[in-house]
Amino acid sequence: MLYDAAVIGAGPAGITAALYLVRSGVSVALVESSAPGGQVLSTAEIENYPGFPKGVKGWELADLFDAHLAEYPVARVRGDVTSVEAAEGGLYRIALSEGEALEAKAVVVCTGAKHRDLGAPGEDSFRGRGVSYCAVCDGNFYRGRDVVVVGGGNSALEEALYLSRIVNKVYLVHRRDAFRGAKVYENKIRETENIELVTKSVIDEIRGGNAGMDSVAVRNVENGDIRIIEAEGLFVYVGMAPVSSFLPAAVERDAAGFIITDAEMCTSASGIFAAGDVRAKRCRQVSSAVGDGATAATAALTYLEHWNA
Ligand code: NAP
Repeated sequence: MLYDAAVIGAGPAGITAALYLVRSGVSVALVESSAPGGQVLSTAEIENYPGFPKGVKGWELADLFDAHLAEYPVARVRGDVTSVEAAEGGLYRIALSEGEALEAKAVVVCTGAKHRDLGAPGEDSFRGRGVSYCAVCDGNFYRGRDVVVVGGGNSALEEALYLSRIVNKVYLVHRRDAFRGAKVYENKIRETENIELVTKSVIDEIRGGNAGMDSVAVRNVENGDIRIIEAEGLFVYVGMAPVSSFLPAAVERDAAGFIITDAEMCTSASGIFAAGDVRAKRCRQVSSAVGDGATAATAALTYLEHWNA
């Protein structure tokens, strides 16, 4: 099938881009690898998206985004994109994992980012048997038990707070004593009785047996002291890696693989735009992803006007 625009990824950036494009009267395919919402779906509570003074649950916001898009005739295509290649006539060919393909005049890449692994010994052995990357998905398994969260960004702070309401105790392990995440979360963490901060510390090893993980060895980076923390769950929040490897070399990326765009969300490849967390930028928020999506759609529409002229 040929579309004016193909939007890849159905998180806040992709849904917004699709919405803006379809409302402008062009034909749009939205390629979704999983349920709409992206990282919003694995976020317990979102407190900084305007319009929700009491906060909103991630799945509720994702549902609202999806319901909004459902009002418009966007072709929803399920699948993982394996490649985007320049095709004849100035089109792009977007290949999907199931062998299907579609063509579009313009492509808006909104594939976001996925969690990074911690890289500690034992992570692979206890993945899914104690080691998790999603508190909203797995937190309930540890109800009334002790868990460790590692990281010092917004994800680690938010999810430590979420877990503190379910589990017996949360140990928050961070390699520095200053947090990258917002002060509002850090203050809440410091006020929460069942969260213990273990700062200037890294996880040397994840330990356990056949029944799963039972402890982590934590090393103080200043004095080298090793502390064994007994816990059945470890939630890893040490940053995100972009989903951009399926793109052609013509799309310039930074050393970590994040797509470089200009202020209009244009990439180095004519007709390919990028929006949201997959982009090289500093601010990664639902609100900034939505803004990127609207900007990218506007630039794509200008491109399509010239294409059709
Ligand atoms: P992040 O902001 O990149 O933070 C990653 C954290 O992990 C940092 O504290 C980093 O330590 C630590 N870290 C990295 N590698 C490590 C390692 N090998 N061992 C131990 N610790 C390690 O990642 P994020 O928290 O996933 O957030 C990603 C983006 O989404 C950010 O832009 C964030 O602001 C945004 N986000 C926003 C919200 C919100 O506003 N509500 C919620 C979630 C995410 P250092 O600090 O020492 O580098």
